[in-house]
Amino acid sequence: MMIKLGLLGEHLSHSLSPKIHNLLFEELELEGKYDLFEKKEKDVSEFIEEVSKKTIGINVTIPYKIKVISSLDWISEEAKKIGAVNTIHFKDGKKYGYNTDYFGFSRLLGQNDIDVLNKEVVILGAGGAARAVITCVRDLKAKEIVVVARNLEKATSELENLLDKDIRIISFDDLEKENKKGYLIINSTPVGMFPNIEACPVSDNIIKNYEACVDLIYNPLETEFLKKARLGGKKSVNGMFMLVAQAIASEEIWLDKKIGNNTIEKISKRINDKINIILIGMPGSGKSYIGKKLAERLNREFIDSDEYLQNLEKKSISELFQVGEEYFRQAETKTIRKISLEKNKIISTGGGVIKNYENIELLKKNGIIIFLNRPLEKIIEDIDIDSRPLLLKGKEQIYNIYNQRLKLYKKYSDYIIENKTSVDEVVDSIISIIK
Ligand code: NAP
Repeated sequence: MMIKLGLLGEHLSHSLSPKIHNLLFEELELEGKYDLFEKKEKDVSEFIEEVSKKTIGINVTIPYKIKVISSLDWISEEAKKIGAVNTIHFKDGKKYGYNTDYFGFSRLLGQNDIDVLNKEVVILGAGGAARAVITCVRDLKAKEIVVVARNLEKATSELENLLDKDIRIISFDDLEKENKKGYLIINSTPVGMFPNIEACPVSDNIIKNYEACVDLIYNPLETEFLKKARLGGKKSVNGMFMLVAQAIASEEIWLDKKIGNNTIEKISKRINDKINIILIGMPGSGKSYIGKKLAERLNREFIDSDEYLQNLEKKSISELFQVGEEYFRQAETKTIRKISLEKNKIISTGGGVIKNYENIELLKKNGIIIFLNRPLEKIIEDIDIDSRPLLLKGKEQIYNIYNQRLKLYKKYSDYIIENKTSVDEVVDSIISIIK
């Protein structure tokens, strides 16, 4: 029998949930369908009534995790404590609500050997996800829990039912002023999420006070907050495992069966395996050469987007540029649209791909972006200007182009790899980051 499920929310086009649930159906050898239900707030109650007759359950996401509670017959202990529901089970004519963000987060801690028992924990943000995190670390008996909010009054009133005397709410300024050492700091704000990926919720001074840093964000996989943590030698963990774990905890409820951590690991791995690895960077930064080597090592297919474009348009890059850069950029976006549908590939892109934001959105849908940053002196040494239309006026042009583009390369990449050492070492660094 076909199992019908789905996700209720306001804006869902970027959701990874269908991908996760479809992989799970494959793993469990079930025939299932996971749909996206984008609804306006006024239609939510009626929709729940309607969908309860057609599916065995749905997930709920921003901004309806609280609103749906009034439509339910029963809610679980965690969901009650947290005050939010992200999973609804329709059974025997009744509607049951659960919160699996709680389980997702506790599994993420377990998976990464982060043990908060008797430790100090700081949680940035006081929204829906923070409520699940606070409840979880309190249940795991953290010694001290500090919630950091930008609006103290709002946070205090919203967290009223959740708080007890062990939990303090402070401002971001207070956190900086107190400058205390602790064990774990968790970002549960959207600060640093795509496309505002240069943002970081706290200063470097704060990050260095903690042993472990968790970011609930999974796009990009490494936020600025986590990048700083990793470079400072801290344990740094992104929100991908939690996302998969909460999805699987929902399936456990709907299917009434234990699925377990092995499957979460397998699916997290399969999601990463299917994801394209996209290299961006200046002309001559080694994207094609390193891309080919990486493809060999990972046993994946390699795509050079410029070659793909030339085959598609039946013209060389120089010929396309002769018509005009605008014309070339349009053809490039057409190519990227096709390439972005690929899975499990290593993709090297043209140096100017970052000039059109649409390209980045397309590539990110199914890929992680790595900026290969090579010293300009090295690029100048061995670049062939005849095949680079933008350098026809001289190699020195490379400095101007680099200055114009550096900010965008950094902004749109999930990871930055310095291409300063041997090819093998660079390929090793990329592989270790992906793993
Ligand atoms: P939410 O309910 O909207 O709460 C966001 C919280 O962050 C609020 O406290 C908000 O404060 C605060 N905030 C927003 N912008 C801020 C800023 N510029 N500076 C300081 N604080 C700021 O959202 P949510 O559902 O909790 O989600 C938060 C993040 O967790 C999102 O990035 C989401 O993708 C991620 N998440 C991940 C998973 C996972 O499975 N990995 C699950 C759930 C959520 P105000 O109340 O003052 O606006």
